[in-house]
Amino acid sequence: NEGVLSSSAAIEDSNLDLTLRPKRFNDFIGQDRIKENLHIYIKAAKKRGEPIDHVLFSGPPGLGKTTLSQIIASETNTAIRTTSGPILDKPADLAGILTNLQQGEILFIDEIHRLNTNVEEYLYSAMEDFSIDIIIDQGQKARSVKINLQRFTLIGATTREGLLTAPLRSRFGVLEKLEFYPWEDLYKIVCNSARKLAIPIEVKGAEAIAKRSRGTPRIANRFLRRIRDVAQVLGEDGKDVIDEKIALRGLEMLGVDENGLCEMDRKILQTVVKSGGGPIGLKTIAVSVNEQEDTIEEVYESFLIQRGYLEKTPRGRIATKQTYEHLGVHKQMPAQK
Ligand code: ATP
Repeated sequence: NEGVLSSSAAIEDSNLDLTLRPKRFNDFIGQDRIKENLHIYIKAAKKRGEPIDHVLFSGPPGLGKTTLSQIIASETNTAIRTTSGPILDKPADLAGILTNLQQGEILFIDEIHRLNTNVEEYLYSAMEDFSIDIIIDQGQKARSVKINLQRFTLIGATTREGLLTAPLRSRFGVLEKLEFYPWEDLYKIVCNSARKLAIPIEVKGAEAIAKRSRGTPRIANRFLRRIRDVAQVLGEDGKDVIDEKIALRGLEMLGVDENGLCEMDRKILQTVVKSGGGPIGLKTIAVSVNEQEDTIEEVYESFLIQRGYLEKTPRGRIATKQTYEHLGVHKQMPAQK
């Protein structure tokens, strides 16, 4: 279940993330088009002896934006400095980081759509001309001084590409959108992770996890870990193998149904159906399911829309035929006159 991780489980999961994070393109499963593009950009930049152009990765959480950024750093043999939009509070915070960057280094800004406007505007000249203006002294003596920066690469990551301003977006030379993974890719990821963590797993067990992990590697890895616990406690004859039966039992305990929907997904769909199938506004859904609007849009809705359970219209969200089928409810048709 997405949002309801205890803090100790969350820490365990972030350590797990680090252990399992692919270090090179070769270990990064799927997203082939993006990998091929990046490969070419990196090769061309190396040939020219220049850093690669600024890159923007967009897509739902847990699909590998941070991982790809780190892979670019290791493939180009450069250092990567990591920060995030909400942390960069003042232009001075950003200036401090920018002036310390060496030639060719990468600055990774996660959640770049959450940058303060004045910090964001500061980034424009840094990205375009590799220079920034800083104000020194105060009062009457205050003056602006231009500082030249080393040529660096900015990599931005966002779960909400639509919230990026046009001037910021236009300063990225490479824009790549990560898509949900097909289950076959997640199957490979689950098998690789199981091998790295020495978790015994059968083909059918890995398949069951892959098919119900919302197209998201981070979720597949998390489920694998939780289901290992189930295998260790409930496995027959003291075997701790994840077979199909154990995988399905574990997924059920995690509140994941046969189509990979979690409890919150079902609550959202039920809210839409109860409203007569929509259109219903995001605010109303958020109040009804007791979750933040942002989280609903980024984490749940993107998946439900992609899988055909929800449609987004200018007047609100509407349920589809598939929603009614999945929830086992009949659509109430307006009474005939
Ligand atoms: P967020 O937006 O939440 O920061 P993200 O898109 O940056 O998420 P990552 O942190 O890069 O996602 O990926 C989450 C975890 O999923 C990684 O630690 C890694 O173990 C795994 N992972 C992601 N993509 C892949 C992949 N293509 N192959 C193998 N493992 C992957």
